[in-house]
Amino acid sequence: MFHRMLVILSLILIISKHEAASRSVYFTIGGLFHEENTETEMAFKYAIARHNMYNNQVKFRTNIQRISRTDAFSASKIVCNMTASEDGLVAIFGPPSLTTGAMVQSVCSNLEIPQIQISWKANLPFQHQTILNIYPDHDLLAQAYATIVRHTDWRSYAILYETNEGLSQLNEVLKLANPKSDPVIIRQLDTQPGADHRPLLKEVKNSSETQIILNCAAENVIGILKQAQEVGMLEYLYSYFITSLDAHMLDFESLNTKSNITVVRLLDPDSPILNNAVLDWIQGESNTNNYITISPLKVKAETALMHDAVNFFTSIVPQLHLTEPIKPESMDCSEQRKWAGGFRISNFMKIKHMLNSITGPVKFNEQGRRIDFTLQIVEINEGKLDVTGIWSPIYPDAINFTRSSSEQMQQIYENLQKTLIIVSSRIGPPYLREVVPKEGEILTGNDRYEGFSKDLIYLISRHLNFTFRIELAADGKYGNYVPKTKSWNGLIKDLLDRKAHLAICDLTITHSRRAAVDFSMPFMSLGVSILYSKAKKADANRFAFLDPFGMEVWFYTLTLFLSVSVLLYFIARMAPGDWENPHPCDQDPEEYENIWDLKNCLWITLGSIMTQGCDILPKGISTRWGVSMWWFFSLIMTSSYTANLAAFLTMDRMAPTIDSAEALVKQTKIKYGTVDGGSTQTFFKESNYTTYARMWTQMEGARPSVFEKTNADGVKRVLTTKNQLYAFLMESSQIEYEVQKNCDLKQVGGRLDSKSYGIAMPMNAPYRSAISTAVLKLQEKGRLTELKNKWWKEKVEVEVKCEDEGSASGADLRMTNVGGIFIALGMGVAIAFLLSIVDFLWNVRSVSIEEHISYLDALKVETKFAFKVWITQKRVKPELSESSSSSSSSTGGEDNESKDEKKGLKDKMLKSGASLLRIDQREKSES
Ligand code: GLU
Repeated sequence: MFHRMLVILSLILIISKHEAASRSVYFTIGGLFHEENTETEMAFKYAIARHNMYNNQVKFRTNIQRISRTDAFSASKIVCNMTASEDGLVAIFGPPSLTTGAMVQSVCSNLEIPQIQISWKANLPFQHQTILNIYPDHDLLAQAYATIVRHTDWRSYAILYETNEGLSQLNEVLKLANPKSDPVIIRQLDTQPGADHRPLLKEVKNSSETQIILNCAAENVIGILKQAQEVGMLEYLYSYFITSLDAHMLDFESLNTKSNITVVRLLDPDSPILNNAVLDWIQGESNTNNYITISPLKVKAETALMHDAVNFFTSIVPQLHLTEPIKPESMDCSEQRKWAGGFRISNFMKIKHMLNSITGPVKFNEQGRRIDFTLQIVEINEGKLDVTGIWSPIYPDAINFTRSSSEQMQQIYENLQKTLIIVSSRIGPPYLREVVPKEGEILTGNDRYEGFSKDLIYLISRHLNFTFRIELAADGKYGNYVPKTKSWNGLIKDLLDRKAHLAICDLTITHSRRAAVDFSMPFMSLGVSILYSKAKKADANRFAFLDPFGMEVWFYTLTLFLSVSVLLYFIARMAPGDWENPHPCDQDPEEYENIWDLKNCLWITLGSIMTQGCDILPKGISTRWGVSMWWFFSLIMTSSYTANLAAFLTMDRMAPTIDSAEALVKQTKIKYGTVDGGSTQTFFKESNYTTYARMWTQMEGARPSVFEKTNADGVKRVLTTKNQLYAFLMESSQIEYEVQKNCDLKQVGGRLDSKSYGIAMPMNAPYRSAISTAVLKLQEKGRLTELKNKWWKEKVEVEVKCEDEGSASGADLRMTNVGGIFIALGMGVAIAFLLSIVDFLWNVRSVSIEEHISYLDALKVETKFAFKVWITQKRVKPELSESSSSSSSSTGGEDNESKDEKKGLKDKMLKSGASLLRIDQREKSES
């Protein structure tokens, strides 16, 4: 019995089910496509088929029509035919084209038949209640683009766009830029097929812009990027943001680029809905013997949108139908009649929210615009797509990054390791100098250079594991903005031209440079200070005692000495007062004698100029007058010499002294300058502080120029300018080095400012923080201090060594100061000794003649006597030895000779006595 009941019950159920199935409502959906929209059409067809498979109550039939992309009239005719069909239409999907879409939109809104558009539309206000657009809302998309650009940290960029409508998608991006500080280049691309974009791209390249937003149809992207590659704009440091939502389908691998390319996509290729849909398409088509291969990664946004639109519609309409049946009607375009169901359906769609779809949540606003969706931000790494973040309208200003910061860093490290990093630098010891090759050695690559900068980048490269090549900046400059050419020079130019990835030297971090390039963490702190030469050791000259008078004064004095002596000789000869009685005892001498022979004249002039006086003095008026004048001259000359000598020997203390910038500015004698085009020059140029501003005015107006091309030139000028009349304003770290190298140099005063050196790199370089971290780590480990010690102390090539502290005192005179006087004395004494020998030998000759002995005997006797130092008295006649006396006695004249000798002695004594007492005169008168 129970069994029978069960069978009857199940029969009733089957029958009722069958009845229900036979009671399924069929609605017709129109689909408008162009010839080439086969994929979209497929998505449309199979989404409906899938719905029909699982839904018995409300099923859908399709009315698919292919319309022209451009012929709006025929499109409207086709649509009217569709609406006029017996079953009527519950909605129309498509068409993709904007031209025909507008006509279809007008027909649908007139008849109030829902139209679901799947293509992007500019931000035109919807006036039509039954029109919905599943493509992301224009304003929200613009906001999404702006948020992405803001998160890239781009401060300047170039926008390349194809159509004005496309550019309007970027209006929020444009609002981000500050036109004064962040230059934005906006250029329209030629839309002609096969157009040459290279001139335009070159223009962008010449502007040094490396961040480009490309707003164009997806099918043109690769062509444009290939042309960019040809002009060298697809290098490591270039970044592209491609706004097309279909860019993920492109073959970036074929570009083989290291540029950073970011694209956005609307669909998630991993979504099971998409994967199922793709399977449906492949399966469905294979049933019709059309075997297709399609990957979820290569699905167009439009196709995915069509799928979601159909899904959304087919899931909503049955619900609405249940509440109150929907009755499609045949609608004639010529009638002014509106379909009552259309308004209901579209309104219902606007209040519904579908979460499970390929393109993210689907939600429409009052105007029929889609206000919920998700955008994936995708980076292309070696052709592979890497999702880095998700954007959603719920938090329009934020990006939900899918990669952790350490993953991002990892990616940056990997990219860095794959690239040969070009390091721009300049020669300037101790930062970088050329290595002198050993004989027969040929140096290449980085081996050609050494210095602090090379060691620093070497340590960083080891830390980050990359390879590098040092290249010198073409103009050897640090990097300054040249208003005339409106461009940068030096190392900064290399970075802007993307010729280098890094710039390392004693490059100061300045505000203006920071606006053009990025800097790492500072690796050295310093400040501007004054480099000055130590007072020249006048002392270093042994003959400094000659310095008080110029050579010409010495020459004139010598000439005067000789000529005055000669003149005095003649004056004395003429002066009667100087003719004297040779024997004062003789009252009436026959002859007068004049003691002023040339020898004595020279003696008195010499004695007076040496301030020693003379044992004989003139008596004649004219001679006395002449000698007095010579004394006067000597007095002035010797006192001037004495006064000057003291000044010259104590030059150190007499030198002009400066101890600060204030002292420099207060005087005009000592000139001062800086390196031309460096940050020190800019510091003075831009300073508002009175002292520095005045210093700048003085430097600017100085002729010849006080600016030097390099620090080395400045140092040379300090050393070579006479009397310390040039000071060089230089960075303290460099001064430290120069002072170590050359002890004739010193730093004067403290630092005038405080700044640092940093490693420069192109703006927003991805490796910026990696380099900074490396610098910081080296600093923490003390490696930077080690490097500084190495290049400032150990490896410094000392040119002038410092003397001991003790000898450095300028108060006492060293041998080097007065050595010349010792030399003069030595030479003088040597001459005197020579003269004495000549004199001695001459006297020996006289003795030999007088004593009638041989010259040799006389020499023996005289030499013996000279060496008997204990004998302090000398006989008038020499004491002849026996041999010599015997030789004379042998001539038999001993007695005679001794008699003569005695007589001569007596005569001499008498004569001198007589001269005293004037006996000779008396004798004469008596006779
Ligand atoms: N370090 C300076 C610069 O980066 C150059 C030297 C100087 O101006 O003293 O411009």
